[in-house]
Amino acid sequence: MCIFCKIANKEIPSKVVYEDEDVLAFHDLNPQAPTHVLVVPKRHITGIGHAVPEDEIVLGRLLLAARRVAEETGIAESGFRTVINHGANAGQTVFHIHVHVLGGRPMAWPPG
Ligand code: AMP
Ligand code: ZN
Repeated sequence: MCIFCKIANKEIPSKVVYEDEDVLAFHDLNPQAPTHVLVVPKRHITGIGHAVPEDEIVLGRLLLAARRVAEETGIAESGFRTVINHGANAGQTVFHIHVHVLGGRPMAWPPG
């Protein structure tokens, strides 16, 4: 079982920000901004590049949960960034799809 499946199953502890039937949001262990939360589906999807039409609902729920995380962590008004890395060039290190929600400081564009 992959590390985010274990976190979703509560086999590995995490600092949970939001949870529902399909989605878990928890603080990143190595935050890259004052607020850095990861939103994952409880059901394993390897990455955005492996998503299929049957994932449509859960993909929408990930983004709605990201919005909720931004509101509940107080970064919605000042602005925040959502990121989904896929594959080597994007620097994906955990192969269970996750939406990064980053905020609390200005974000550079283009991203590095
Ligand atoms: P990515 O590079 O997009 O695959 O992002 C993986 C993210 O997962 C990184 O930001 C890591 O800091 C984070 N991460 C890895 N293990 C854990 C963990 N056990 N709890 C919370 N965040 C983690
Ligand atoms: Zn998984």
